[in-house]
Amino acid sequence: EAKKNHKNRYFFYNNDLHHQMLLKVNTENELQVALYKHQFTLFYQPQVNADSGHLIGVEALIRWRHPKRGIILPGAFISVAEETGMICDIGWWVLNEACRQMKRWHDSGALNVPISVNLSFNQFHDDTLVKRVQRALKMSGLRPEFLELEITESTMAENLERSIKILNEIRALGVGVSLDDFGTGYSSLSYLKSLPINQLKIDRSFVRDIAQNHRDQAIVTAIVSMAEHLWIDVIVEGIESSEQLRAIQRCRCHAIQGNYYSQPLAEDDFSEKFFA
Ligand code: C2E
Ligand code: MG
Ligand code: MG
Ligand code: MG
Repeated sequence: EAKKNHKNRYFFYNNDLHHQMLLKVNTENELQVALYKHQFTLFYQPQVNADSGHLIGVEALIRWRHPKRGIILPGAFISVAEETGMICDIGWWVLNEACRQMKRWHDSGALNVPISVNLSFNQFHDDTLVKRVQRALKMSGLRPEFLELEITESTMAENLERSIKILNEIRALGVGVSLDDFGTGYSSLSYLKSLPINQLKIDRSFVRDIAQNHRDQAIVTAIVSMAEHLWIDVIVEGIESSEQLRAIQRCRCHAIQGNYYSQPLAEDDFSEKFFA
């Protein structure tokens, strides 16, 4: 009986792996088709000065307009795209599209702020990264100081030396670098000392309870003060309420991004809301 169970378990396990593999291949094909059929689109979320309400930047966030499933969020496909290697093709498309869109907005006279683009692990470690960034700027006509690349700590943790070298090359172009999801990764303070970044984004896990939680307040206040001394800008992600906003302001943080101000919006909705 025990043997039979064991056998059954083995069978299911095996079957499960097989199933997972099929799913993955399917999804990779789907991602390829999606790219080729122009099913990816960018949504834009404003970054604002908490005191004045002025727009200070925009983050580009990918969405997949699936013909049957509707709009699919990156959480449902970015990791598969990473595993299959599709992320680079998708990511380079994002980079180019984001630069083009921000240049169009600049040209229309509607706004004059930078665009932030998320870079995946594989893109960051791709040897063609710097060339791709240069080309995206050249093709779009966007000035380098209007592009910010958002990179997480975990992307850079594996090889700090190499990461610093890449970051220096990006900064040499005049492009900004923002440390995304700050506080969730390894968060070694020595990273802040050695990484040539100009902005850090405090992760929304510090914001959720900030109105009540004194520890979160203390941590955010400390990060803001430390960053100030290092000449690094701070922005807080995930502000959903006026209580959180006030708490963040008490921590002396003045740049925010979050649904309280606006959710990520499609191009048309963004234009309509901010400069119609
Ligand atoms: P992220 O870069 O940290 O982006 C911020 C995420 O927080 C976005 O989720 C945004 O919609 C969400 N968010 C903003 N404000 C609030 C808020 O007030 N409350 C809550 N609950 N969430 C808020 P989204 O668009 O689903 O993206 C998730 C992640 O997927 C991003 O996190 C980023 O890591 C990745 N991602 C998005 N677009 C791209 C892309 O073009 N390329 C790559 N490589 N990754 C991307
Ligand atoms: Mg980001
Ligand atoms: Mg983030
Ligand atoms: Mg993230």
